[in-house]
Amino acid sequence: MQMVTITVGVLALQGAFIEHIQLLKKAAASLDTPPQGSQDSHWEFIEVRTPQELERCDALILPGGESTTISLVAASSNLLEPLRDFVKFHRKPTWGTCAGLILLAESANRTKKGGQELIGGLDVSVNRNHFGRQTESFQAPLDLPFLGQNASFPAVFIRAPVVEKILPSHEGIQVDEQNREETIVAPSKQAKDQAARAAMGSEVEVLASLPGRAARLAGEGKNIDADKEAGDIIAVRQGNVFGTSFHPELTGDPRIHAWWLRQLRDSVMQRRKASR
Ligand code: GLN
Repeated sequence: MQMVTITVGVLALQGAFIEHIQLLKKAAASLDTPPQGSQDSHWEFIEVRTPQELERCDALILPGGESTTISLVAASSNLLEPLRDFVKFHRKPTWGTCAGLILLAESANRTKKGGQELIGGLDVSVNRNHFGRQTESFQAPLDLPFLGQNASFPAVFIRAPVVEKILPSHEGIQVDEQNREETIVAPSKQAKDQAARAAMGSEVEVLASLPGRAARLAGEGKNIDADKEAGDIIAVRQGNVFGTSFHPELTGDPRIHAWWLRQLRDSVMQRRKASR
């Protein structure tokens, strides 16, 4: 069986990158081998701090941490533009957790203009620190339908953002957003070629939400029917880009990492075939 090496990077400028690498290794070990006759993959997991390291990657994770710090260090390491190319031009599989989700959003609020920059890739606007301060961090068992029926996952929320709005998916969506107060937007960027456009995906899919939103708003005195519960959006995917508000890397539970690796193995194999 022919071996194909797939390199997955974790942006290692600040935050929980070591935890992601550990869980990626655990997840890779739990994957089934592909059927007889197809190519098997060998995984390589690397920490990414330079444009050269990023260039080696087939896929990337942006960890939780502090999005302002990650963005400032990325800018001073000359990584911001290469990251935007990776996600929005080459459209390679990318997953952001918590601060990583903020960086992958096209728009984020509660941010001073000039205070930080976004990479973008997900046509959403995120509300930073949605659940309050560090002391209001919590863990909740989450129903994650994409992991299978009744798959409860121990999700950790630390000053987590939520997706407060799904933006229409076309050029120029940032114009309205950037006129909002304390809101920053990502610079637009087109997909590179056919394969990149195919990976792009026009629709933002909501993969999971956290119940409780309606009850909380009602508790704050808003006139809301708590039975009409839609929940806070805490996991989304748009083509090659996946984002979660919470931190699977802090749980030791490799199921989401395994789910993501399985998909990216398929998409990397397809791209390699197409470029041969
Ligand atoms: N609130 C942080 C930010 O704005 C994200 C928190 C986290 O990643 N745990 O970047």
